[in-house]
Amino acid sequence: MAKRDYYEVLGVHKNASDAEIKKAYRRLALQHHPDKNPGNKEAEEKFKELAEAYEVLSDPEKRARYDQFGHGGESFGGFRPEEGFGGFGGADIGDIFGDIFGDAFRGRGSRPRGPERGSDLRYNLEISFDEAAFGTEANIRIPKAQECTNCHGSGAKPGTSPTTCPTCGGSGQVRFQQGFFSVSRSCSQCRGEGRIIKERCTECGGQGRVKTYKTLSVKVPAGVETGSRLRLHGEGEPGGRGGPPGDLYVVISVREHPIFSRHDDDVLCEVPISITQAALGAEIEVPTIEGKVKMKVPSGVQSGAHFRLKAKGIAKLGSYGRGDQIVTVVVETPTRLTQRQKELLEEFAKISGQDVNPIGKSFFEKVRDLLG
Ligand SMILES: [Zn+2]
Ligand SMILES: [Zn+2]
Repeated sequence: MAKRDYYEVLGVHKNASDAEIKKAYRRLALQHHPDKNPGNKEAEEKFKELAEAYEVLSDPEKRARYDQFGHGGESFGGFRPEEGFGGFGGADIGDIFGDIFGDAFRGRGSRPRGPERGSDLRYNLEISFDEAAFGTEANIRIPKAQECTNCHGSGAKPGTSPTTCPTCGGSGQVRFQQGFFSVSRSCSQCRGEGRIIKERCTECGGQGRVKTYKTLSVKVPAGVETGSRLRLHGEGEPGGRGGPPGDLYVVISVREHPIFSRHDDDVLCEVPISITQAALGAEIEVPTIEGKVKMKVPSGVQSGAHFRLKAKGIAKLGSYGRGDQIVTVVVETPTRLTQRQKELLEEFAKISGQDVNPIGKSFFEKVRDLLG
């Protein structure tokens, strides 16, 4: 079978960037991965072809040689399929597969079951609006697995000990050949543990670990919002067989503020003004997250008008500067008037040519007039 052009295999242009090549490879490799297409010879061939193309095109030297000499150029030391994954050498295929398949893929290789990374933990942290705006330091109490003191981590009842699994010989994996690939599956007898506990420790139920709590101090940066995640490296569950611990993700939720709300980095708030302030214009006091500031309202302002206070908003997370505060003025109609106020307003209405005494005719009479 004639070899297809590597660019064609990956479906990219001749002058595709490294990132484009990587992206195309990832997408196609995921699609044709033998684990997704068990027993499908065609997918397996496609996958091999992809790996080969990527191995060359992801390496600047090999790519240059390929561009110049075509497939013949590879004999200078390119892909050697008989070596399987071990032979991929220079290209960061391990890296790519790490990205796509995570530890599950690595664990399936021909290597025996090695250290396992601990699970990630999630902690929901509720903070106030101000804490989100200015940042804070919070103490959180998180569950932590600790070695069981009763069985000293073995999971077996004291006085007994776990035995090596006879099916997998302690590796936790059973391997078999599937075409090009040596595929490993988790051993069903010991469920991948490699050892069998006849009598479980009653304290930990055979886990070898018990749950305790620990307190951590978390620095919450200014500008976080509901849904922001902070990653605390290595504060997750401990790893297995000497593997590294997982991470702790602190997921932020921000409580509502009685007067402020938020849109991205902008703080929104409504400020009431009187009808005379609206009509005549005024300098009013406006609350901001850092206290009161003065703001000018022009004469004739309408209820619902917006004003922007530059850089009075929330710090931009992961960058510089701050959002703005957007003030919406709400014109308040007075409800309890003194006699004098009433007189003045009636006077105002009169000189404006308005109905002087709307209460003269009853409201219902007016409605009746309107309806004819
Ligand atoms: Zn125990
Ligand atoms: Zn086993």
